[in-house]
Amino acid sequence: VTPSISTDSSTNLHGIISSPTGTAPVRKRTLADYKLGRTLGEGSYSTVVAAVDVSNKRDYAIKVLDKRHIIREKKVKYVNIEKNTLYKLDHPGVVKLYSTFQDSSSLYYVLELCQNGELLTFIKKLGSFDENCTRFYAAQILTAVEYIHSQGVIHRDLKPENILLDQRMYVKLTDFGTAKMLEPSEDGTDSDRANSFVGTAEYVSPELLTEKAACKSSDLWALGCIIYQLLTGRPPFKGSNEYQTFQKIVKLEYSFPPGFPAAAMDLVSKLLVHDPNDRLGANNTIGLLKQHPFFNGINWADLWEQPAPRLQ
Ligand code: ATP
Repeated sequence: VTPSISTDSSTNLHGIISSPTGTAPVRKRTLADYKLGRTLGEGSYSTVVAAVDVSNKRDYAIKVLDKRHIIREKKVKYVNIEKNTLYKLDHPGVVKLYSTFQDSSSLYYVLELCQNGELLTFIKKLGSFDENCTRFYAAQILTAVEYIHSQGVIHRDLKPENILLDQRMYVKLTDFGTAKMLEPSEDGTDSDRANSFVGTAEYVSPELLTEKAACKSSDLWALGCIIYQLLTGRPPFKGSNEYQTFQKIVKLEYSFPPGFPAAAMDLVSKLLVHDPNDRLGANNTIGLLKQHPFFNGINWADLWEQPAPRLQ
């Protein structure tokens, strides 16, 4: 059966590109407004290309999503979540969505360009980061996470592939297709659970595996995994297959290699904790996490103005 575009807002591809409520009507952009450049990357149902707005010469990244493919693969929901979440968020550590438009075959998301690509590429290139660089990137990721949580958003799939770097080598969180927006009535404590399984094996929190529910603190677990990975080059929990990885996570089976910095070890041990409520920074106390000795020397007030440290 050929899937039809229904009028239900959850599956309506026309609905997903409408302007967010409350914004002034502006002329809808079209592909003719941009000069397309190199392909930046491919997702499972999208291609991202560099683009220049011909009227003001500004650089963007345009994500092109194939409508038929999205419907066929039942990804309409995720496409909607990504658009609605990104429109809502406005922070230097989160990739910005400027506009969306469509033609008969594709949806187009005009995004902030992240010239330096994925954080993962730099981890692979360098092997690992030194403590100072790790501190800076952990601090930027943490403040971006603090911001999205303040907006009632749980990312649920934080990992170095989903952390992009702009021209200044600043962090930009991306890939909000599996994010969860908590209802405004929810007070955002970690008892607020978002159901259904999502995420990437190595960064999945134990509560997702055992209770099939994620919470804000699940993003803190992922942050612990990322800090460990920045310093060692590999995630803390990695089995020969997904099942083995999950086993290691639920048994909290990981170890610190010799030379792992003491302050970072203390921080990671306080994030990789089974009970989400017991993680440092859980239940709206990210301020406490920022005060951890590992972050000594970070100037939180100008974190998004100071130059990024040279990677080493
Ligand atoms: P999947 O959909 O399979 O999870 P994905 O989320 O990586 O994959 P996309 O968001 O389409 O898929 O991104 C595809 C590639 O384009 C990624 O490798 C990413 O690094 C790159 N990319 C995405 N957004 C930008 C951006 N704003 N600036 C620069 N590169 C980007």
